[in-house]
Amino acid sequence: MTQNIAPFSPNALLRSFPAFFCSALILGWTGLVQALTVQVSSTRPQQGDTIVVWVETTDPAPVLKWGQKNYPLFPVQGQKFRAMIPTTPLDAAGSYTLSVQGEGQERPYAIALQKRSFSTQYLSIPLSDDEDVDPYEFDRVDAFKQLVSPQKFWSGTFLRPTSGEVSTPYGVRRYYAGEFAEDYYHRGVDYAAETGTPVVAPAAGRVALIGRADRFVVHGNTVGLDHGQGVLSIFLHLSRIDVQEGQFVQAGQVIGRVGSTGASTGPHLHWGLYVNGQAVDPVPWRYDGIK
Ligand SMILES: [Zn+2]
Repeated sequence: MTQNIAPFSPNALLRSFPAFFCSALILGWTGLVQALTVQVSSTRPQQGDTIVVWVETTDPAPVLKWGQKNYPLFPVQGQKFRAMIPTTPLDAAGSYTLSVQGEGQERPYAIALQKRSFSTQYLSIPLSDDEDVDPYEFDRVDAFKQLVSPQKFWSGTFLRPTSGEVSTPYGVRRYYAGEFAEDYYHRGVDYAAETGTPVVAPAAGRVALIGRADRFVVHGNTVGLDHGQGVLSIFLHLSRIDVQEGQFVQAGQVIGRVGSTGASTGPHLHWGLYVNGQAVDPVPWRYDGIK
């Protein structure tokens, strides 16, 4: 932007034009610099996608709204900011308004969330309400999911966290004893691998949650990584944990081993990827990368 407008520098204009003519041009030039520019990764994302929004503005504190909620915009470089909006299978397909405020202006953008078909599991057991579970476990996991650190630790595409086939993909819906579970979707990807198979960090981050199976009776041995700027990974049912809370890990570093602790029917790794509090499909992060 700065390079494009260089030929119209006010000093150059002052040297070559009468003063009255000059002021009009400078106003025009000022208006050009103040343009609020918004780019969106897709105006037709599908359920589970992470929508990335780039805003270029001279406003030091632009605001981004999706529905009724504000999402944090982080500086990228110069006057560029980036925000990430999570979508999930629980968000109805249809049209949404993304609104960006800056420089005293408000710009609405229409986003059409596309319906995606997720596979369905039919369980014969009734849906339990988890009444007997110690709240300690869910309180700690919920607090972890709310983390939004200002720094960005990840870069490039995310690595596959373990070997083994995907046994349950993201987004699977369930029926319990014939009743559709409205609030349930598989909030991650399961990999079937033998107990003891190494689990690696898919991207750099800080270890922000460690849960031990003695008190994490549902999640089992758990590691939570903070990749920064509201992007978090959680790994469940581990047989062993190889990191400590507060430790910084690099992409590819071993953080634990596959297991079957907690509410698990066999050895597998559950990897959940959260963006601003919601579990998104990790697949685009693995293959396309989100910058
Ligand atoms: Zn799972």
